[in-house]
Amino acid sequence: MPRIQQLTPAVVSQIAAGEVIERPSSVLKELLENSIDAGSTRIDIELEQGGTERLCVFDNGCGIFADDLPLAFSSHATSKLTHADDLFKIGTLGFRGEALASIGGVARVLLQSRPPECDHGAEIRCEGGELGTIRPWNGAVGTRIEVKHLFFNTPVRKKFLRAIPTELGHIIDTVIRLAMAYPTLHLTLKHNGKLIHEIPATMGLTERIGMFFGGDVRESLREIRSNPGGMVDLWGYIADPSCDRGNAKLQYLYVNGRWIRDRSLSHAIQEGYRNLIMVGRYPIAFLFLDIPPDQVDVNVHPTKAEVRFRDSGALFSLIRQTIAKTLLGSNAIPALTVPA
Ligand code: ADP
Ligand code: MG
Repeated sequence: MPRIQQLTPAVVSQIAAGEVIERPSSVLKELLENSIDAGSTRIDIELEQGGTERLCVFDNGCGIFADDLPLAFSSHATSKLTHADDLFKIGTLGFRGEALASIGGVARVLLQSRPPECDHGAEIRCEGGELGTIRPWNGAVGTRIEVKHLFFNTPVRKKFLRAIPTELGHIIDTVIRLAMAYPTLHLTLKHNGKLIHEIPATMGLTERIGMFFGGDVRESLREIRSNPGGMVDLWGYIADPSCDRGNAKLQYLYVNGRWIRDRSLSHAIQEGYRNLIMVGRYPIAFLFLDIPPDQVDVNVHPTKAEVRFRDSGALFSLIRQTIAKTLLGSNAIPALTVPA
């Protein structure tokens, strides 16, 4: 009979990292969320080899004090949450204090930062969970994080990485999801020295949709908004039924600025288009829900891509009805009654 043993901290950190860091795009998601939480207005991303060799994020946010740099890499250390009660009114994208610890456990990371109130910045390295010393750094206000050689110390997980174009595709998806939720953010993305995306702060949401998904999608967008005064505010854009697709990839759903996946709410979108599109076809929708933080639990999934709602039935109806009403008011031609 095997005896029970305490796992070593190194194993614990690799298990924890496995929950959040699956591939370069998961690293990028965590870094971008930190930059947003830091109040950045500009974020520049540089990658090499789909982010597997090098992934670097620069921001102009609030920075980290030199003395706090080691804590940034320690697990369950965060500046975003203090009390247990705070868990039920989360207003930031991060709160678990796990991301940098996880990334530092499975890559070679250099963190450099300077808060606006400091004349000088500082830097620290964390490589495979080994923390270096704090050193002076002479950089601009904000934070710069460089993540190299992802999974260098976990060869089995490295083998799960896909070809560079696939990893780059996931990276671009991550950037698009964020760029749509924060349309006043200036974002740039470089891959192997080449500029792939430059998204200026002046480019609004519909322009961003046009840039990412094409002019025809943009042309067919209709604004959607729930009645004011409700506890939940639903707004965004939906496309004409005639602009339908063979999959649900162009359905984007955000809750309080966070991109999420939710089967029931995706079904509500589909139901809103009922009788307007054929079975097996999917509408295009970019929907944003602003919900009081105590009505949604974001602490159910390590990557926070799935959330739990207090009253998901009410949200289902809100989405279905608001879409149906918008389409009705916009003389959309029911596609199923038009002869093929
Ligand atoms: P969390 O975001 O859940 O707090 P992280 O591990 O992602 O946990 O980050 C740990 C802490 O490091 C954050 O709480 C924040 O104080 C600090 N931090 C990380 N990235 C940045 C950044 N880009 N700008 C300012 N502070 C940052
Ligand atoms: Mg974070």
